[in-house]
Amino acid sequence: WLGLISAGAIAIILAFVVITIRRTPGNPVADIERALAAGEFVPYYQPIVDIRSGQLRGAEVLVRWRKEDGSLVLPGAFIPLAESSGLIREMTRDLMRRVCVEAGSVIGCRPAMKISFNFAGQLFGDESIVKDVRKIFSGSPIKLSQVVLELTEREPIENFTETRQVIAALQGLGVRIAIDDVGTGHSGLSYMLKLGVDIIKIDKMFVDAIGTDRNSTTIVETLVDLAHNMRMDVVAEGVE
Ligand code: MN
Repeated sequence: WLGLISAGAIAIILAFVVITIRRTPGNPVADIERALAAGEFVPYYQPIVDIRSGQLRGAEVLVRWRKEDGSLVLPGAFIPLAESSGLIREMTRDLMRRVCVEAGSVIGCRPAMKISFNFAGQLFGDESIVKDVRKIFSGSPIKLSQVVLELTEREPIENFTETRQVIAALQGLGVRIAIDDVGTGHSGLSYMLKLGVDIIKIDKMFVDAIGTDRNSTTIVETLVDLAHNMRMDVVAEGVE
């Protein structure tokens, strides 16, 4: 009897512990998962302007975590965890779908306008993303030729061959690829350029220092020349 009772008691205590752990805030990955299901990750739009004409050329989508109480969390606080847990993939797909819904008609009727998304390096390491991108935009007024996907130079590329193939397949859809944060990485620009990208985005760090630091000015000039020689477009970050 005693044995039965204590076995029952242990089972109840165990069940209680499991439920408590699940509900306790402090499991950050579970928090992200829940927020994702609740649609709390929302797009913000960073304009990209033509420096000659002053015209709007498009926008870069930046993710914000808008919590139930209305507070906003910046990506630095959740993207690393989203990446290490693998949730980044669903987060990115969700963001693309949202942009299609809320800005699809506005962007779609201006074919020259581009819309950029930040893609974690790991997304370029898996071919199935090509299908995802095609599927998401095929049901939207946004044409694939308006889509730009940004790959950061900040982190090393894990599988160069695979990444290069995925980039080529995406470009086959009409999508353009940008190297983000150029000048901050350790991979070396020539290595990154072997990926066959269309656009380089010069990191804010260099742009900020134009006019005050001679090296930065020279680096920016060199990058612009290089991009033009390689028939790539240039975006300067942080000009605002
Ligand atoms: Mn970016």
